[in-house]
Amino acid sequence: MNNKCDIVRDLLPSYIDNICSKESNQFIKEHLTRCVNCGKILDTMKSDINISDEIYKIERLETTKKPFTKVSGFLNFQKKFTNYILIFALISLLFGIYFLANSNNEMKKYKEEVNRLGVVEQEKKAIMNDAINVLGDSTVLTNQKEEQLLKVFEKYNGKLNLLAIFPKTNVEDWIKENALVRNEPTTIYPINYQKAAIVIGNEGIIGSKEKIIPSDYDLGNVVMENGNWVVQYEYKTSYENIIEKYHQLKYYGPNILSFYQLPILFVSIFTVLCIIWLFLKKNNSQLKGLID
Ligand SMILES: [Zn+2]
Repeated sequence: MNNKCDIVRDLLPSYIDNICSKESNQFIKEHLTRCVNCGKILDTMKSDINISDEIYKIERLETTKKPFTKVSGFLNFQKKFTNYILIFALISLLFGIYFLANSNNEMKKYKEEVNRLGVVEQEKKAIMNDAINVLGDSTVLTNQKEEQLLKVFEKYNGKLNLLAIFPKTNVEDWIKENALVRNEPTTIYPINYQKAAIVIGNEGIIGSKEKIIPSDYDLGNVVMENGNWVVQYEYKTSYENIIEKYHQLKYYGPNILSFYQLPILFVSIFTVLCIIWLFLKKNNSQLKGLID
């Protein structure tokens, strides 16, 4: 037993008298093909009343007016409810649009940040290239090359803490253990500075290498092997948080989808409400057909 059964049963007397609208007739017929219980009630009604009795018919015609009032009350309620659904759907859509604009903004900021920090990666290669270009194919560090290395350090001053050049023969064991470090700048825990041919710091060439305390932050130290030399440089501590930020963004950055969770949620609510609204609207016009 559902609302349709209720409506059909109220309308059955009119149906028997054949005074229903075309739509109502169709609605009832359709319902009767599916609902055994309403069919039984129709049979009972048909056998109970004497259709040829005209007086009886007039009485019945009077009573048939009541169900229409009932249906129309129900229809009014459902119409209101349908309108509320539409209002909620539109509100959800507005929220969806608002959050979409918001998300786009956040996304733009995020991309700008990634680009800004992307410079770090380019610079990482540039520093290494500059040092390696100075070394070239040489097997000895001449005074001239030392001067050029000092210039490289100065060029990136403010960012570099130490720049060291190791003869490959001094660090062969280290190279064996760190097979990954080959022909591109790699962030890795620093090689012991005592094995270096030259270490440059803020005060110039450092004389007593044994006093150097290496960085304990592996992302802040970059190493690359080339020909006869291994180049290593350490970023300044003050620059490390930018390196860290870049690393975090690059490897643990937010998923693009996570920016759009709210707009997706509200547009989904909007869609579901629209489907409910369309369904109710169709239902209402079906009911309206019964009354007219
Ligand atoms: Zn029924």
